[in-house]
Amino acid sequence: MYQKSLWLDGFQENKEKAILKEKNVDVCIIGGGMAGISTAFALKDSDLSTILIDKGTIGFGATAYTTAKISYLQELPYQKIATMHGDEAAKLYYESQKQAFEQIKYNIDTYHIDCDYKEVDECILATKSSDISKIKKEENYFKKWKVPYFQVETLPLPIHIQYGIGVKGAVFHPLKYLYGLKKQIQNKIPIYENVFAKKISEKNNKYKIETTEGTIEAKYVVVATHYPFFVIPSFIPFKTHVEKSYVIAAKEKEIYNLSSITIGVPMHSIRYQEDYLIYGSYAHALTNHLDDEKNFSKMKERFQSHFQKEIDYIWFNQDLIPNDGIPLIGETEKESHLFLATGFHTWGMTNGTIAGTVIGDLILKSYSPYEDLFALKRNWNLFRTGHFIVDACRYAKIYLETYCIKNPKFYHDHVCVMYENGKRIGIYIDPHGIQHKVYNQCPHMKCNLIFNEKEKTWDCPCHSSRFDIDGNVIRGPSTLSIKIPKS
Ligand SMILES: Cc1cc2nc3c(=O)[nH]c(=O)nc-3n(C[C@H](O)[C@H](O)[C@H](O)COP(=O)(O)OP(=O)(O)OC[C@H]3O[C@@H](n4cnc5c(N)ncnc54)[C@H](O)[C@@H]3O)c2cc1C
Repeated sequence: MYQKSLWLDGFQENKEKAILKEKNVDVCIIGGGMAGISTAFALKDSDLSTILIDKGTIGFGATAYTTAKISYLQELPYQKIATMHGDEAAKLYYESQKQAFEQIKYNIDTYHIDCDYKEVDECILATKSSDISKIKKEENYFKKWKVPYFQVETLPLPIHIQYGIGVKGAVFHPLKYLYGLKKQIQNKIPIYENVFAKKISEKNNKYKIETTEGTIEAKYVVVATHYPFFVIPSFIPFKTHVEKSYVIAAKEKEIYNLSSITIGVPMHSIRYQEDYLIYGSYAHALTNHLDDEKNFSKMKERFQSHFQKEIDYIWFNQDLIPNDGIPLIGETEKESHLFLATGFHTWGMTNGTIAGTVIGDLILKSYSPYEDLFALKRNWNLFRTGHFIVDACRYAKIYLETYCIKNPKFYHDHVCVMYENGKRIGIYIDPHGIQHKVYNQCPHMKCNLIFNEKEKTWDCPCHSSRFDIDGNVIRGPSTLSIKIPKS
């Protein structure tokens, strides 16, 4: 069994240092996942000089760990959006997802992208009778909008179903698709890997992006880094929370043209890829269930209890969940020329695609039909305020849990946390007895870090930054390391 994503098989990490040639451009896109590459794709035929930089290898962020379903039937988004923003917003969100779905298919057909694309029956399912009404509510929207769908009462799955609905959806290999798009872009837009953006500042209507390979000046900046690496402007940590879930791939002889997700708890996400069954489950707020060793075993147990199969791959992924159900895509302020694309609610294949289209349109035409829907500045309402309070309580709980380390489930024999000169220090003692000492606070928003026993990393339980045992950043939003300078 590999503890890695199935999608990374056959894809090589690029470790080569980049030499930036273009230091003064019209557009700088930061991040080469689904959102960043889709934005570059939208700008590829324009006259604007554009570059894309990524701190690692293209596609190796959250996009490499998805389950890669392409769908506009995403659990229960429409009733949530309708409650919070009205029916029109829900309909517009549907249209954006449908457009992204069609865009992906169009790209695959037009550019002959070989990415194992397959159309499937995409279903949402209720496993408890109390959840049937929620599905019916979603169904009512489809009836009202005349969206073709079908009802589901049974499926060839080892999960008991009460009721469900389905539409035509699709699945694909996310990295093969992304690299197909990259091929269409790279002759027009330089793409640099291993260039880490550390800071953005603005002066005289130009942005300066400080990177590990020098400073880039740009008129427009698109931050498509999954989690934006700054707090102000836009305050994303206050509008979203991070959800973590686990995925298993296991060889399967009986493959169905089916992709499905159950609503409620426990969640079961099931799809097939070539001769693999891909199962996702055990979703939780990042602030809960901190012991990854335990999380992985629970996930395995859950899978075995339904499928009794050998596990070939197991991995986890994290995504930003917007408190009001709509992703955050657009300009931080009107005419600021600083764009963000985040909060994809675990539906980043369509949302990353539409983010590229929306940002491309806003840069090129100053207009997108979805501008207001996805706008970063949205009115606060009771629901959002409620979520904000719940999140604040979760953060307070986690802060206290990591602060009062007397009973830390997540620190084992070879890990300890202590104070030195008033600073919290984390120490990991490796199997050779060597001590690896780092600061134990995340530079992003000062949350205390916990040790991930499974992957031997220091993880931020608040906003998902990750660091290796020597303090280097593996994943943002933090752009700073937690290394202790040698005195
Ligand atoms: C368990 C799970 C299953 C999922 N399944 C699905 C699914 O079936 N269908 C679906 O539609 N969505 C799914 N998603 C959601 C989807 O995976 C994500 O929303 C999507 O991949 C995010 O794409 P992105 O481009 O925003 O981020 P990423 O793919 O993470 O890209 C961001 C890039 O920015 C780079 N970067 C970060 N910081 C910097 C920096 N400072 N400087 C330079 N570069 C930087 C990173 O290296 C990375 O390559 C799932 C999510 C989870 C948690």
